[in-house]
Amino acid sequence: MNVLLVFAHPEPRSLNGALRDVAVQALEAEGHEVRVSDLYAGGWKSEVDRADFTQLAPDVRLHVAAASGEAFAAGALTADVREEHDKLLWADALILQFPLWWYTMPAILKGWVDRVYAYGFAYGVGEHSDHHWGDRFGEGTLAGKRAMLVVTTGGWEEHYAARGINGPIDDLLFPINHGILYYPGYTVLPPFVAYRVDRLDAAGFTRVADRLRERMRTLATTAPIPYRRQNGGDYLIPSLQLRPGLGGPTAPGFALHLAGPAAGD
Ligand code: FAD
Repeated sequence: MNVLLVFAHPEPRSLNGALRDVAVQALEAEGHEVRVSDLYAGGWKSEVDRADFTQLAPDVRLHVAAASGEAFAAGALTADVREEHDKLLWADALILQFPLWWYTMPAILKGWVDRVYAYGFAYGVGEHSDHHWGDRFGEGTLAGKRAMLVVTTGGWEEHYAARGINGPIDDLLFPINHGILYYPGYTVLPPFVAYRVDRLDAAGFTRVADRLRERMRTLATTAPIPYRRQNGGDYLIPSLQLRPGLGGPTAPGFALHLAGPAAGD
């Protein structure tokens, strides 16, 4: 497979830097071709602004989605964004790697999403009507490709358990897994999470690296998170509510959007 790893840590000698190297070596050992988008090293511009839309006349008010759609259709997005599109289309699998900062991804990675996920590329794809609300959540430009997160946290695994103070990790990562990866069509794999890493010793590193190697070895075969497809019949359109009768009364929050027993179907 072709694999794109988008890396968001400012320090190459960090734990994340070491884990990135582990991941790349493990993937290459499996015969995969790997490319890395190292956002800090490459000086990624993270904010969307007028400079992203060079075709926009100076007196025209900036409307980001409209400008994004026009620039995408005209092939006029900036070169850095177009390069990322080429990499995403080339890759059979996408890995987003980052330390958990304030319960989510670092701003530079969010800015990668904001700029690279152009209208017409990642959203605004397919028919939009009262009968079909776009090709998304299981369909879209990136359908048929796999994606997963590689995340490190300072907090303990217990802090992210069902009754932990931080909330369950699957809930915290839902906006990324479901809202960013599943939305444009990716088949989303369970995340790799290394908890309580701030004082990781050599033995701890070996354990984390071994777990990560195993996840890289099984990238092509790991069973995905069974999210429901928007256009698969489980949702009413256009209200986009889960159909009555699906999702048991005890399914907690985001788990409603998993098909099968996890949602109480
Ligand atoms: P580093 O600091 O680089 O390393 C961590 C430890 O790994 C060090 O002790 C290092 O010596 C050791 N190590 C062992 N082997 C190696 C090796 N081979 N190479 C490099 N280092 C090694 N945590 C949460 O749980 N929730 C949050 O919401 C959260 N928000 C944060 C917000 C900010 C702004 C910051 C700065 C931190 C936050 N944290 C949070 C903590 C953060 O998630 C962790 O600090 C981060 O995941 C650690 O990853 P790192 O790559 O930066 O580790």
